[in-house]
Amino acid sequence: MKEHNYNAFTIAQKQFDDVAQNIDLEPAARALLREPGKEIHITIPVKMDNGTTQVFKGFRIHHNDARGPAKGGIRFHPEETVDTVRALSMWMTWKCAVVDIPLGGGKGGVICDPREMSLGEQERLCRGYVRELSKNVGPVIDVAAPDVMTNSQHMLWMLDELETIYGGHYPGAITGKPVGMGGSLGRNEATGYGVVYTVREALKVLGIDIKNTTASLQGFGKVGKYAASLYQQLGGKIVAVSSWDVHDKKAYTFRNLKGICIEALIEISNGYGTIDKQKAVDELDCEILAGDDWIKQDVDILLPCALENQITKENVKQISKQVKIIAEGANGPTTPEADAVIKQRGIFMIPDFLCNAGGVTCSYFEQVQCNMNYYWGLDEVLTKLDIKMTDAFHAVHKLAMKKELYMRDAAYGIAIKRVADAVKLRGWI
Ligand code: GLU
Repeated sequence: MKEHNYNAFTIAQKQFDDVAQNIDLEPAARALLREPGKEIHITIPVKMDNGTTQVFKGFRIHHNDARGPAKGGIRFHPEETVDTVRALSMWMTWKCAVVDIPLGGGKGGVICDPREMSLGEQERLCRGYVRELSKNVGPVIDVAAPDVMTNSQHMLWMLDELETIYGGHYPGAITGKPVGMGGSLGRNEATGYGVVYTVREALKVLGIDIKNTTASLQGFGKVGKYAASLYQQLGGKIVAVSSWDVHDKKAYTFRNLKGICIEALIEISNGYGTIDKQKAVDELDCEILAGDDWIKQDVDILLPCALENQITKENVKQISKQVKIIAEGANGPTTPEADAVIKQRGIFMIPDFLCNAGGVTCSYFEQVQCNMNYYWGLDEVLTKLDIKMTDAFHAVHKLAMKKELYMRDAAYGIAIKRVADAVKLRGWI
């Protein structure tokens, strides 16, 4: 993955400003929605296993809660910045709005590297994070969830700390919990599966049979693994997977032009998506290429499912003429300059906040189940998820066709209008 100098918040604001201009959004709505509503910056002292205390910096940002409580994940990343969290909180607002769930946008982050921390240190960090934020989170204020390098165990530690502080059970306060502890079946799969539901629909409107398609994937974390797995189950062939190697601290692309068996690749990867190179060569017949090579492959579909700012003005030229669809499983993987090139080339873009909305949609289902204290079976969750994602995809596609818009602009048009209507109805502007 690239070192990058892009500021995600500047990008998020530019995307918003351009669409606000095009849809002639009134000035007060523009001024309100281009900024986060509330920012909390915290310092978290954590007792480390070696007896020292390390102080971590963290953030929780509410972009907008006009349509419902702020909602969004918490990222643990050594390169986390407040501007990235600002951007991601804004994208959460549009994400919840485009799939029409009654939640707003928020995001959290801690500058840390959980790969270098013991489980005990991670637990103390999670509990410390929630202690600092306890007055500003909860089922009707702000609902956190997993994101980059956080998982269901982190969420449960956080919930346990919050419930200890408040002296009761509030399972709807945090989503992405383990199944059996207030979590929903299907939550792990939800983001990746949601990506593929939108890819499936895009292929339908383009008149292409998924069984005749190939794809190249960046990122083999939760999103990438499940997206690749469902895409393969539906008959597609993944020929390249780029993934970060925690030992070598660089990414590699694993390629097998005959198709990589995704279940076998999962078997030889760890929880952070690092793939065993030797086994990939010996057992899965993969060639090992440079990390950035995923983008150059002659495939029909590109699946950027890692981090922001991965498709840039430098590497966008390397996208093969064969590529017909880009499905953004990650948040913000394409910079605006690269996006302009993709738009001009007529590649079908499934924008991030539509494409990867399956995770938060399932989080919403999790909250509903927590509130009822009654839990659905896996098929029920996935069927409901498929309906939500498919409906949202077609609403965006219909607008794109009607007004001859790029899919990203159509998705923004729908989302921004819903949020602007909500702030107006509430009398905020
Ligand atoms: N972190 C996921 C996202 O970026 C899910 C958020 C949630 O479930 O609240 O969409």
